[in-house]
Amino acid sequence: MIPTIDYIQAHFDAYNSRFWGGSLPPVPVKLSHAKGFLGKVTFTRRRQGLFGGYRNENFVLRINARIDLPEELVQDTILHEMIHYYIAVNQWRDNSSHGELFRREMKRINAEGNRHITISHRLTESQRTQAVRHKTRAVAIVHFEDGKTGIKVVPNKPQHIQYWHRAVMRTFNRPFSRLTQISRIEWLLSDNDYFARFPSSVAMRVYLIDNPSELPLTKTKNEKNN
Ligand SMILES: [Zn+2]
Repeated sequence: MIPTIDYIQAHFDAYNSRFWGGSLPPVPVKLSHAKGFLGKVTFTRRRQGLFGGYRNENFVLRINARIDLPEELVQDTILHEMIHYYIAVNQWRDNSSHGELFRREMKRINAEGNRHITISHRLTESQRTQAVRHKTRAVAIVHFEDGKTGIKVVPNKPQHIQYWHRAVMRTFNRPFSRLTQISRIEWLLSDNDYFARFPSSVAMRVYLIDNPSELPLTKTKNEKNN
């Protein structure tokens, strides 16, 4: 699921009363479209007085709305960020970003709520695979003159496919090239997870495949011969 602000707000309220006795003040919620993190609590630390006091304020709770994740994980992410918020809004300082205070709260809520909150802001490998399952990739299957087969995943936009196709042919098949020539490129639009292992870009790089017969080659969109 991809959470909405209303969804996050409703869960914030429910978790606040269940796990913190409703003690957390309301916080602005924003959706994030970052690739790198699932959630984040941001705030400013303002100096107070002359002798080194600080106060955390201007809190914002951000939850990722770019990646389609299992609902459980979205909920655990909200809880994870609420623990950060709980610590910061009480003006406590933990001994590291997921230090003793954080872990104590995490254990308590995991036990009381039968949750699976972790100290990671990032996706595990299997979550990443789940998250990208619905993604359709443009896959070039590159057949070389010497019989070898290579794969390249290109961002799934016509202009990227066209650009890469032309550029890779120019690169490999230019006169007197010392690279093995390409005999033909097949294009495939695939949502098979197999292709998630290849970086998606327009870089002039082709990954050779050991067993081309094992490629999951269904849904051939079109074929170009050169
Ligand atoms: Zn964290």
